Amino acid sequence: MNPQRNFDIVIVGGGHAGAEAAWAASRLGANVALVTLSRETIGVMSCNPAIGGVGKGQIVREIDALGGLMGLAADATGIQFRMLNASKGPAVRGPRCQSDRHAYAAYVQQALAGCSNLTILEGEATEILVEANRVAGVRWQGAAGSSETISARAVVITAGTFMRGVMHCGPTVWEGGRIDEPAVSSLSESLESLGIELRRLKTGTCPRIDATTIDYDRCTRQDGDATPQPFSFLNGPLNIEQVPCWLTATNADIHDRVRANFHRAPMFTGQIESTGPRYCPSFETKLERFPEKDSHLVFIEPEGRDTNWVYLNGVSTSLPRDVQDYMINHIAGLEKAAILQYGYAIEYDFAQPTQLLSTLETKQVGGLYLAGQLNGTTGYEEAAGQGLLAATNAALALDGREAMILRRDQAYLGVMVDDLVTKGVTEPYRMFTSRAEHRLLLRADNADRRLTALGRDVGLVDDARWETFSAKNTACETMAGLLASTRIREQGGKTIEELLRRPGAALAGLIAQIAPAATAARESLETITRDQPAAAATVAIDAQYAGYLSRQASAVKQLQDLDAKKIPADLDYASIRQLRHEARQRLAAIRPHTLGQALRVSGITPADVTVLAVYIAAG
Ligand code: FAD
Repeated sequence: MNPQRNFDIVIVGGGHAGAEAAWAASRLGANVALVTLSRETIGVMSCNPAIGGVGKGQIVREIDALGGLMGLAADATGIQFRMLNASKGPAVRGPRCQSDRHAYAAYVQQALAGCSNLTILEGEATEILVEANRVAGVRWQGAAGSSETISARAVVITAGTFMRGVMHCGPTVWEGGRIDEPAVSSLSESLESLGIELRRLKTGTCPRIDATTIDYDRCTRQDGDATPQPFSFLNGPLNIEQVPCWLTATNADIHDRVRANFHRAPMFTGQIESTGPRYCPSFETKLERFPEKDSHLVFIEPEGRDTNWVYLNGVSTSLPRDVQDYMINHIAGLEKAAILQYGYAIEYDFAQPTQLLSTLETKQVGGLYLAGQLNGTTGYEEAAGQGLLAATNAALALDGREAMILRRDQAYLGVMVDDLVTKGVTEPYRMFTSRAEHRLLLRADNADRRLTALGRDVGLVDDARWETFSAKNTACETMAGLLASTRIREQGGKTIEELLRRPGAALAGLIAQIAPAATAARESLETITRDQPAAAATVAIDAQYAGYLSRQASAVKQLQDLDAKKIPADLDYASIRQLRHEARQRLAAIRPHTLGQALRVSGITPADVTVLAVYIAAG
């Protein structure tokens, strides 16, 4: 065998999950191959040119805290940055940026090209090779058309929307994985032959128009934040020229025309059979679901600095082209807009994620991991997070090390994986802050304090990031100590920490009230606030919500205790006669890795978990 075709880990797919997986695995020292249909489409944004948002922005920060790629790529190529929900509580603030699509993909491609132990192989992975129930590699159809065997000790599949992808635009139906890209089918067959059950989901995208044909005077301008905040903990506030976005809206006339064409809408005619993302519905679905609304917002978002392509966020559709023409050209400001690409929908295969362990390894085949849209999620961020976790766990397992499984009180990534593997999906899964029970713990600002030390232990965090983190952490600890010990005489001798809990209290104002006798404390606080503003902000939020956080502590502790109680991987549920029949079946199907996870399996009661706990303790 060609020695160059012999790897520790093969990653199939160079989308957001695949790119992050390749980056993580190579950081962990594995000899990695990334097999993807085209080098040029590595890191491509299939849909909206944006990263982050509420829930999703927290995930990007978590990926970054673990040494990942997405935050760095977003910071380097963002053209407009906003902290969403900035006026609301810190738990629901989410960083988001408008990205330069081409620059983003180019950044990711360049970053991967710089990974020394990573080989990129262009072509299609057609088959997963298995020996004695363990993955042994993949069959690869290179650009030259020849079929070769690539051997590997672990394989991570991140095929996105490409598996048996079928696209729809009005009555036109064609096979494809994304616009102008082919679908793949052999991989679906291979997964099915290994006993992995595949189902169908749907997603869709909106028309793109020519920026030079927009009448901006009829639209409302939306600027980015005055001080753009980065995603990556390695970066300070970004010094970039930001590009404006614009806002307009649909109207009753458009709604009437679209409704009159419902009988031609693939979403309603039965042409599209699978379920799409509930919280990112097509325009026609919005009209059906909210008949009382006679206007919907349309966000006009540039796809980059040097392109005339503009994305119309809010009008995802697979209506026939003539209806799309009418719809777009009757939106204020878009009367003369030229459509560069029509909206379309895509149906694709996904693997029900209850077939995965919490490491994202399949239960059916050892060493075979699945990540990204293939697991029923939607979104770049969700995909990237899974890619990082799957590849990390693959590399750790090959080294005989303990898996990295994040807890629900530790990371949105932990919430997502736990939701996926215990509950499965019936519609594309996207992250919301409401999915986390302890969202005040899982803030965007403290992702590094939650995860960077863990990333360092695992080997994902390099020296430079560790130094940056350590400096910030020291500043946080010094600051927390000073807030707890410095009292303000004019405020009844209360500490700054106590005073911060009052509504409307501001850190800077309180520091200014520190008496001259405590000048050293004041100087230290001023220095940290000036030199480490992110540390100061995090500690101030912790102080502000200290009461709430301590009330949450016992619930968190309970969750942690149950999640610390491991269930043996080979436990034979059928032999636990004390368990109800249904509980035995559910638990055997999901195979939770802890008692906490067992409790979250649908249909499992606290009494079942007690029985299980007693059985394990006795065994
Ligand atoms: P992808 O980004 O799809 O990447 C898959 C990669 O796998 C590609 O590089 C492909 O070339 C490669 N590949 C596939 N099969 C093989 C094979 N056999 N061999 C080699 N390489 C292979 N997300 C949202 O959050 N909101 C939306 O509104 C939204 N709308 C969307 C609309 C459309 C039309 C599409 C296509 C996607 C949409 N998405 C949306 C989803 C978003 O694009 C994905 O969530 C994200 O790209 C998933 O990342 P991924 O890495 O899992 O897969």
